[in-house]
Amino acid sequence: MSEIVLKGIPAAPGIAYGPSFILDKGEFIVPNRSISSSEIDSEIARFEEAVNNARREIQGLKTKITQDMGEGHAKIFDAHLLVLQDATLINAVTCGIRETKSSSEYVFFTVIRKFVEAFAKMPDEYLRERASDVGDISKRVLKHLMDESKLHDLDNLQDDLIIVAHDLSPSDAVSMFNKKIKGFLTDIGGRTSHTAIIAKSLGVPAVVGLKDATLRINNQDSVIIDGKKGLVIINPSLATKELYVKEQSKITASLEKLEDLKSLPAQTIDGKNISILANLELSSEISAVLKYGAGGIGLFRTEFLYMNRLDLPSEEEQYQAYAKAASAIAPFSVTIRTLDIGGDKFISSVQIPRDMSPFLGYRAIRFCLERPDIFKTQLRAILRASVHGKVQMMYPMISGLGELRQANAILNQVKTAMRDEKISFDEHMKVGIMVEVPSAVMMAEPLARETDFFSIGTNDLIQYTLAVDRVNEKTAHLYEPAHPAVLKMIQKTIDAGHNEGIHVALCGEMASDPLFAFLLLGMGIDELSMSAASILAVKRMIRSVKLQDAQRVAYEAMQLATGQEVEEFVNAQLREFLPG
Ligand code: PEP
Ligand code: MG
Repeated sequence: MSEIVLKGIPAAPGIAYGPSFILDKGEFIVPNRSISSSEIDSEIARFEEAVNNARREIQGLKTKITQDMGEGHAKIFDAHLLVLQDATLINAVTCGIRETKSSSEYVFFTVIRKFVEAFAKMPDEYLRERASDVGDISKRVLKHLMDESKLHDLDNLQDDLIIVAHDLSPSDAVSMFNKKIKGFLTDIGGRTSHTAIIAKSLGVPAVVGLKDATLRINNQDSVIIDGKKGLVIINPSLATKELYVKEQSKITASLEKLEDLKSLPAQTIDGKNISILANLELSSEISAVLKYGAGGIGLFRTEFLYMNRLDLPSEEEQYQAYAKAASAIAPFSVTIRTLDIGGDKFISSVQIPRDMSPFLGYRAIRFCLERPDIFKTQLRAILRASVHGKVQMMYPMISGLGELRQANAILNQVKTAMRDEKISFDEHMKVGIMVEVPSAVMMAEPLARETDFFSIGTNDLIQYTLAVDRVNEKTAHLYEPAHPAVLKMIQKTIDAGHNEGIHVALCGEMASDPLFAFLLLGMGIDELSMSAASILAVKRMIRSVKLQDAQRVAYEAMQLATGQEVEEFVNAQLREFLPG
């Protein structure tokens, strides 16, 4: 078998080698296979047989569920059977095969997609929910038309596999990591999707945005992932394998070398200290945060506590998690971000409508202000944890003073109630905001007067400034951290914060790249927070440069016209101070 190389978007660095496992989550790609005129009848027959098989399966399930759980529970299968008998559907597919001379699976997939879309747009909620039933039915039929090896589910996972999926949600990623997955590959997604972020923080190499990896890779293919370059090598030759074994030992050696930096300060040659902290998604990562010598937790993404469960986490459970992080990282601080769901993060306990543009929709602080019950529970838990170390709190996605004041009003209500109940908390706990929406940048001065610190969320700020969806592989080339417009936004935020005497941190993925971190240092950032595994490489950069050089480079970079020019310029400059 010859070696095939696929190029995608690097999402999490590292090298992994192992057998692939194609994970179907429903949204798999069906290739457009042309057929000849002589194949039309047999293709239609194949389709009819698949529908009959699917029908038989559903009948069998219906009988079983009726026996086990009663007739009421089996009603859903009647609806599935009706869809499979629908003459419009069947005719559309058979005529489609004749007219387009495409394979039955492709025509069926195209037709059924239109059905799903039509259901999803129905004004009636009950009918809208039937869209997922139609989706289930389509999988059932496709299973009989396509290579079964492409269709599996999460429950069948074994250890030590490279997962290949069309898409993975952040909660899928979290649930899989208990299963010692070696790495993962997806057809869609961008560098700062939360799935990529999770992979990075857990040290699992990942490549996203591969477009058709689920088609090109078969189950049990041997696959190498080069997470840093965004490469995937299917059926690697012996020579390629040897190359990667060498590459792996080089990486291990350079990581070992970085270990020496662990206890040294992140200080430039001319004496400027920068705080380097870690981002935390799961409490289980605290050991990694400590291992890499983080100077605190600059972003605790609390939404992961709410994922992969049917109920909401109680105040007590949240308190335990926050207190654990606070005491583990003491005497350094932990900045707990209040719930940021929506966008690409969903939880089962709360139904959030899947907006057309989820990142512009019902998300983060917008959700919390509408659900003070959920928000207050979290605020109480954070306040209670504040006595266990140095706890700070921040709100995500603040777009202006109105939201900040509303959030603080709720916080004050919670504090008053806790004082009445004689529950102790840190009365001086700092409360900051994430600056990740362009309107917040434009309002940075007045916001800085009413908040204790800023933390710039570049993952979102880039997408909102450049109008580039952070999880869309098709526009990934436009998602440029070094775009001059983004740099100006960041500079304005830093300056506004400093003019008003507050601390300005940055916790987007941009912080974890030494090249961008060099720029940010020159722009005057006070603190960088990143995935724990990136800390030592960024520290190495900081310890190799002078603040005054970084300031000059940042100034000159900001005069340039495009993101590409900025990257090339900063790269060339940094190479002088940091060879290799
Ligand atoms: C950001 O937007 O940069 C950020 C750190 O938050 P998240 O990635 O969780 O949206
Ligand atoms: Mg964000």
